[in-house]
Amino acid sequence: MSTPRNEPARTGGVREHNLALVLRQVAQGSRTATPPSRADIAAATGLTRATVSSLVDVLVGAGLVEELAPVARTRAGRPATGLALRADAVSGVGLEVNVDYLAVCVVDLTGAVRHRRVVDGDQRTRTPATALRRVARLGARAIAGERATGRAVAGVTIALPGLVQAPHGPLRLAPNLGWRDVDVVGLLTREPTLAGLPVTIDNEADLAALAELYAGGAGGSTSFVHVSGEVGIGAGIVLDGRLYRGRHGWSGEIGHVAVRPDGPACRCGAGGCLEQYAGQEAILRAAGVPADAATSMGGSSAVDRIAGLARAGHPEVRAALAGAGAALGLVVAGAVNLLDVDTVVLGGIYAPLAEWIGPAVAAEVDRRVLGAPWAPVEVRASSVGPDAAVLGAARSVVQGVLDDPASWLTAA
Ligand SMILES: [Zn+2]
Repeated sequence: MSTPRNEPARTGGVREHNLALVLRQVAQGSRTATPPSRADIAAATGLTRATVSSLVDVLVGAGLVEELAPVARTRAGRPATGLALRADAVSGVGLEVNVDYLAVCVVDLTGAVRHRRVVDGDQRTRTPATALRRVARLGARAIAGERATGRAVAGVTIALPGLVQAPHGPLRLAPNLGWRDVDVVGLLTREPTLAGLPVTIDNEADLAALAELYAGGAGGSTSFVHVSGEVGIGAGIVLDGRLYRGRHGWSGEIGHVAVRPDGPACRCGAGGCLEQYAGQEAILRAAGVPADAATSMGGSSAVDRIAGLARAGHPEVRAALAGAGAALGLVVAGAVNLLDVDTVVLGGIYAPLAEWIGPAVAAEVDRRVLGAPWAPVEVRASSVGPDAAVLGAARSVVQGVLDDPASWLTAA
């Protein structure tokens, strides 16, 4: 039996549950103009003021919460001491291996980005061990930087483009990397700095959707599909404010939904998959732009060039983007018909190209979603940007601390 999220626990693990409850109130309040006081939290949760005070003391002592300068809210009464998440004590580290880049991102407990780095390079030419050693070193350097400023690192999550057995692995299949059954955590923790930390793995499209959710994106919707365009295409499904992972954590493999059963061969072994029509390489090919340096996160990339040409009105490029959008819209409309979400978020390379891809997606969705005349589906660009997956990886680490501070306190 589970306890409703905003009520005190009455049974076992009471203190752990209530600690998380109080921290959640502080985290929610940190984003408002009036950070909550102990009395506010007692009123919101139904816990006694004495209990709240004792739990807040624990959180302050652990460096997760800080007390702000007292502010007089009314003329009568004592000034209230607001509580906020402390930014300078705990960090989360996200890593990512994708087809054409490696990335690292560090966030503080409030989710603010402290460090990010992207290293371009085709990972298909490397073994999993080599690619993971390199990204582990990027992570180790970032962790050393955090520790040098006195921060503790709560853990590391790596984003990968394929079927992963979250949270500890292995990675089952990443068709575009050519990886199968890779012990990602085992290989990453060969790097001594990572060996002493909790290291987890997750799917990049799921993490990108979580980044959008954490950022309050998707136009404030809590039921949306976030589609990440890279060389491959993944989707993260968020229903009622929660990521829907599926039975094995393998939901959202939208890139391998067929657009045409007799279409071109795909790296997954089948043919006619969406990736062959709306993946990064397919777009570049259709637009006549060379795929060299086709990274989605580097500086002057092929995707930037495509955006530039589209902006200048280049007909072949605009047609390529409209064609990709139509294929994407066809599949996305199927997903919306199945799931009844109200928003579709275009992420990864689709975010900077949304101006040209988005209308074609929206047209297919309008045409094919049965409920659209009564509840129009919004198609919008990601609010997070192209590095959503690695940001989501880092954010999910600190979210783990916010969700379960008692475990963090035990481990720290
Ligand atoms: Zn496929």
